[in-house]
Amino acid sequence: MSGVIRVDLHTHSCLSDGTMSPSGIIAGAANLGLAAVALTDHDTVSGLDEFMAAASAAGVEAVPGVEVSCSASNREIHIVGLFIDWKHSRLTEFLEGIREQRNHRNSRILAKLNSLGYAISLEELLERAGGESIGRPHFAAILIEKGYFKDNQDAFERCLKRGRPGFCRRELPTPAEAIQHIHAAGGLAIWAHPVYRNKYARSHVRGMLNKLTVAGLDGMEAMYPGFTPEQQSMLMELVAHYHLLPSGGSDFHGENIPQIKLGGGDGSLEVPVKFYTDMKQAWRERAAESAAAPAAVEEGL
Ligand code: AMP
Ligand code: MN
Ligand code: MN
Ligand code: MN
Repeated sequence: MSGVIRVDLHTHSCLSDGTMSPSGIIAGAANLGLAAVALTDHDTVSGLDEFMAAASAAGVEAVPGVEVSCSASNREIHIVGLFIDWKHSRLTEFLEGIREQRNHRNSRILAKLNSLGYAISLEELLERAGGESIGRPHFAAILIEKGYFKDNQDAFERCLKRGRPGFCRRELPTPAEAIQHIHAAGGLAIWAHPVYRNKYARSHVRGMLNKLTVAGLDGMEAMYPGFTPEQQSMLMELVAHYHLLPSGGSDFHGENIPQIKLGGGDGSLEVPVKFYTDMKQAWRERAAESAAAPAAVEEGL
């Protein structure tokens, strides 16, 4: 351990496709001495009651979050909402619709896998997932247990990813819809993992940011496991250029992606506490502005 105070603003629990409980993540954050930790399960806020209660009991600074998969010009991108009011009906109804689409897709994946000769049932899937947000890593875990694949990567590479025999697409919201609903719930909208390992895709990031910033994007992850130093500085430069907030996190998934650790990611991740403090301040200012907004409108009438 480096001794640097750091934060982790992107994690998954067993309420989506991670394996650790929300309180387990808080305990892990306390052990590591993280200055703040966010829970950002896919398309569900069902872990946040437990997460926030465990955080107050343990004295850990915790951020309620969610990660929403979106479709932008036929590409899947992910928007993380941080500091959300997770009981806000506009957000919870939006997420419920997304999970319905997930379930439709999951039935189609099941049928496809069965027709390909993999023995896997809906009951097994529901039991394995445990929570309300069921995804491909749950299929992968069952297929690995039954000996069809070596590990998660193998299951995705040979079967579950786009272009492979077990893939089925699902209807996804647009990033603008995700951003709107995150804002309605008082949160900040962050573009998650804008680039991937060893891809120096500056033009892609710029093109996407031109659209996402118009839709109200607040920030972007500049630190994420596997980002090269060149990618990090390119992303930090674009954060400044577009007046965004920098974010970062491990994308921890517990034993489903065992090489990625809470806080430290692949071993070299150190998301500075300043990312968090700047973000919290921006969120507070936003909240104060919206509280003041009705009065300002009345005065203008
Ligand atoms: P879903 O949301 O059900 O479509 O599943 C997407 C999840 O699967 C992501 O959040 C990752 O955790 C995992 N995943 C997606 N693509 C890959 C891949 N190529 N290799 C390994 N895991 C993946
Ligand atoms: Mn995932
Ligand atoms: Mn993601
Ligand atoms: Mn994630």
